[in-house]
Amino acid sequence: MTQELLLMCPLYEPTMRRLEDTYRVHRVWEGADRDALLSALGERVRAMATIGHERTDATLLECLPALRMIACFGVGYDGVDLAAVKARGIALTNTPDVLTECVADNALALILATVRRTAFNDRFIRAGRWLRESAPLTDRVWGESLGIVGLGRIGQAIARRAEAFGMSVAYHGRRALPGASYRYCANLTQMAREVSILVVACPGGEATRGIVSREVLQALGPQGYLVNISRGSTIDEEALVEALCAGRLAGAGLDVFTDEPHVPEALLTRDNVTLQPHVSSGTHYTRAAMGQLVVDNLAAWFAGEPLLTPV
Ligand code: NAP
Repeated sequence: MTQELLLMCPLYEPTMRRLEDTYRVHRVWEGADRDALLSALGERVRAMATIGHERTDATLLECLPALRMIACFGVGYDGVDLAAVKARGIALTNTPDVLTECVADNALALILATVRRTAFNDRFIRAGRWLRESAPLTDRVWGESLGIVGLGRIGQAIARRAEAFGMSVAYHGRRALPGASYRYCANLTQMAREVSILVVACPGGEATRGIVSREVLQALGPQGYLVNISRGSTIDEEALVEALCAGRLAGAGLDVFTDEPHVPEALLTRDNVTLQPHVSSGTHYTRAAMGQLVVDNLAAWFAGEPLLTPV
């Protein structure tokens, strides 16, 4: 008998095709009446694939009493109500490690593009401005001080790249990482005061909501740059927009936002901001590897075998 699978949102296209080769897949987002579809399937569908920042809350889980397995495409699972999942004994998997290096690459791309104004300079030429004037000088990247919020897998990959740029690296987390050679700062505001570039690489969710607060942005100051590849929720976005517009922050490189795909209007016209549509893991290589983990975790679960990357 072909097993059924709920697909809550679009994933990497080849991954969806592979899942559809194996399971009877219900594409929930395509249904005209989502609630009707879920209540029709809820009594029998045992597994779901989703994206970690998509909302998988207690209300959704109540509609799916037979659900026993959630495979997240992505390393973060901040959209999942962990307590509800745990209480129901539902298995949960994510896709760590395989995306680390590409996400770190994009963090460096955002640092370089924002500080060296790469996208601005591209627009400068396209607008014909080079024919009339010189491009403004920028701050530098090499040799600067970098503060990383969350020295996990991605944070460490960013730190390795920063070292190659001759940058000094400090980090903030809930505790010092044993064996890490970078300077640990227990106080994020203090670290923001001491570095010229702050990169956020911690998980999203309630524990880190607004961790880059108005106070932290103020400490980073008018010479400071912020780069966020974590989740929009980690930043006080309103305070960030205010700081950028008032010149109280030198610039920001943002891959993630509070209300994606909506980006604060005020940022769209600012030349000291580099915007990316949540694409840090968005390479063919990485998306294929993430998809493979989703496929393999689901196969393992249906076969009653150990999960590859349980949360
Ligand atoms: P990870 O290895 O678990 O690292 C997370 C780091 O954050 C750890 O160093 C952890 O250190 C720190 N952290 C956790 N809670 C914290 C808190 N309350 N305050 C301060 N630091 C905290 O995860 P990862 O694989 O590096 O991924 C990190 C995040 O990147 C993901 O959760 C996801 O949200 C984001 N991400 C974004 C994209 C994108 O496309 N933009 C792609 C992939 C991942 P301690 O536990 O010691 O505090």
